[in-house]
Amino acid sequence: MLWSPAKLRRPRNVDVQQRVAEARRDHPEAEAWLELLEAALAESENEGKAAWDAVVPAAPADRPANAPFLFRAQFAVNRRAAGSWVHRIAGREVDALALLEAAVCQDDTRLETLASSAGADPEALRVTAQMTAVPLLQACGRAFAAQVAPTWWEGYCPVCGAWPTLAESIGLERKRQLRCGRCGTAWALPPLRCVFCGEVAHDQLGYLAPDARRPDHRAPRRGGVGARLPAARTSGLCARGTAGVSRPSEICRELLSALAASEGRRKRRKRDTTPDAIGLAMKEDLLERAIVADPAPEAFEEWLQQQCLAAGPGEGGLRAMALSIFEEWRLAHEADAFRDWLARGAPSDDAPRAEAER
Ligand SMILES: [Zn+2]
Repeated sequence: MLWSPAKLRRPRNVDVQQRVAEARRDHPEAEAWLELLEAALAESENEGKAAWDAVVPAAPADRPANAPFLFRAQFAVNRRAAGSWVHRIAGREVDALALLEAAVCQDDTRLETLASSAGADPEALRVTAQMTAVPLLQACGRAFAAQVAPTWWEGYCPVCGAWPTLAESIGLERKRQLRCGRCGTAWALPPLRCVFCGEVAHDQLGYLAPDARRPDHRAPRRGGVGARLPAARTSGLCARGTAGVSRPSEICRELLSALAASEGRRKRRKRDTTPDAIGLAMKEDLLERAIVADPAPEAFEEWLQQQCLAAGPGEGGLRAMALSIFEEWRLAHEADAFRDWLARGAPSDDAPRAEAER
């Protein structure tokens, strides 16, 4: 191990402390990483905050429209202070400023070279290096947050250029917001736009879901590839679709159990989550009604609209929930089509033509 946990200080933010404690309880295997995270947050929020804030450069005026704020940025850091922070986290053997620079630039080749000259494990140093860059990048995130254009529709972070660490659903209407795990910047992206390639056509989009989402009631499939998809739910992956197979009531049943889990998480939070609770209760009620009514796939959108109309004026919250359910159903529907396409041996549109030409 490159660092000594005893030397690391803890963040004073009570909410953060509590969340880290929860993560520590739920994932004891992540202890080493959590120690690093706590130290980086403490440095960002308390001890080094003012010094790191002073290092943030101005964004270059000639920056291309789709380039992040830190495009070709130069940082004038205090060698002693920055070196002391990096050495505290990554050990005294590494070249502190070179490590910080490579981490900010996500330059893995350079990080590997630094690891071999310090005699460190390259994988461990890569993770540690990212943590050394957190206080500097968080300062940049704070400085540029108000300047992020609402028209920024790129999948990468508008401040530091990294891919998002997570996607959040916010508000009653469950807007999709991406979050950078390095500088903490959040930016909105339309729900049906692929983060990685910008595809917006819903019939060209799909997502991968674990097999355990529903009992497999279909006949065994030909070939190995169609039987199992990876056990990760990766929203936003591009795929291609044909005819779907699930009924809305099946998907609604799964959404309802996912909601029960998220309700449990909400109750454990300390902040006021009452607005979330109102939205969740509405969504739960609508899902339960959809399970009972069991509308056909082609009639589901109309059925949802009827529920909103029946609720009368002031049904904005219900409409937002109905839209959110419809969107989730459509994504699951596309996932079915994607699985079927895989099960049929992933046929290509070009294949019949190629055969005919032979
Ligand atoms: Zn970022």
